[in-house]
Amino acid sequence: MTFDKLDLIEPILNALQHEGYTQPTPIQEISIPIVLTGQDLLGCAQTGTGKTAAFAIPILQLLSLNKGNDRSPRKIKALIVTPTRELAIQIGESFAAYGRFLNLRHTVVFGGVSQQSQVNPLKMGVDILVATPGRLLDLQNQGYIKLNDLSIFVLDEADRMLDMGFIHDVKKIIKLIPEKRQSLFFSATMPESIRVLASTILKNPEEVAVTPNATTAETVQQEMYYVNATDKKDLLIHLLQDKSIATALVFTRTKHGADKVQRFLSKANIKTEAIHGNKSQNARQNALRNFKDRTTRVLVATDIAARGIDIDDLNLVINYEIPNIPETYVHRIGRTGRAGLNGKAISFCDVEELEYLRDIQKLISLQVPVVKGHPFEGDFELTDKKSKIKPKVAQRGKGSGIDPGKGKRRVGNDKNVSKPQAKKTPISTASQTENNSKKIFLNR
Ligand code: AMP
Repeated sequence: MTFDKLDLIEPILNALQHEGYTQPTPIQEISIPIVLTGQDLLGCAQTGTGKTAAFAIPILQLLSLNKGNDRSPRKIKALIVTPTRELAIQIGESFAAYGRFLNLRHTVVFGGVSQQSQVNPLKMGVDILVATPGRLLDLQNQGYIKLNDLSIFVLDEADRMLDMGFIHDVKKIIKLIPEKRQSLFFSATMPESIRVLASTILKNPEEVAVTPNATTAETVQQEMYYVNATDKKDLLIHLLQDKSIATALVFTRTKHGADKVQRFLSKANIKTEAIHGNKSQNARQNALRNFKDRTTRVLVATDIAARGIDIDDLNLVINYEIPNIPETYVHRIGRTGRAGLNGKAISFCDVEELEYLRDIQKLISLQVPVVKGHPFEGDFELTDKKSKIKPKVAQRGKGSGIDPGKGKRRVGNDKNVSKPQAKKTPISTASQTENNSKKIFLNR
């Protein structure tokens, strides 16, 4: 399948060629034709699947065709609401890239910075607005944003939006936009609360899902290291001695944890920066830029700060701590192996985190392969039965082949990785749901 089979207009096809895209990702292949017909869409897809282009491309096409030679002042026709500044900037960049040969203007507004530079483009008039909820409402209140002419509304990363406490803002925004509109709703996960929210926004949507188990199984090589919490630091430094690792994104659960990892890696002469909610917007953007241009080798991030990080050739993600929300694992490892490229995700699991690992494996229908025989191997493992997370203490140094001397054994070609057991979700199911939406599932 190539983009020219999707009935896209020449300027968009040229822009995609300019970006070096040769073929649509699965979510793009299915969603673009749906959006072009004007239908509502419920998309279950995480960042990394190409979902931004899946909505940005058809929106650009619809607006461009509607606009024709109209020279009247620009009014906001499409609004994309997304939870974080990083995502907003990234979506803005996508509109700029795919719309580079079109006569459409967009702008991006988000909080945490002065509003003046955001107000100027609004005053000049834009066709497309990308916004985080708080700043959108703020500027709307001040009269800089008028949404009466809106024809397309996108709610992006809805699950994260709820996690971050934006539900009331989202409800307020819905009240401000015309009832007659096309709505697109994207979420990485679809728990009941998200479906309820979706049902208040969408009318007879088509439902498209990129299943996470395919996402994690097919493009990202996953590895699990059992390690005691106190040895994680040494294991991380040990792994990063491998000079073939050009860059790595390391995840921690907390801001404090991110700072701690940043400090000990820097002490070990590994160029590292950390991003999290306590860092200023400028510090975050700088750290991101340094990481992208490889001035910094390791970026340590908390989940919220990392949401929206878009690095095309990131090939290693390290979960220094296992997330307690299983979907977060899918988000994290989705930072690598993007748009069909191969990536690797390494996770450090201590005995307290085995339960989290169990939940993750249930969600992704896959047993993450365990790396055995590494120098910091923990004396425990996840067993099949819930009650049996049993320490293997007796084995250490007693014929198990594990040398208790730290740092003496090498992790390399001799590592023994157990086989993954992947279970795939059926590829294409069309069924009717309560709200009459049609479901299409696809694997990445
Ligand atoms: P997203 O899921 O929207 O965050 O996109 C993930 C990454 O994939 C971004 O860096 C996009 O530039 C890239 N991308 C999106 N669509 C394609 C495509 N059809 N071919 C190659 N790369 C793509």
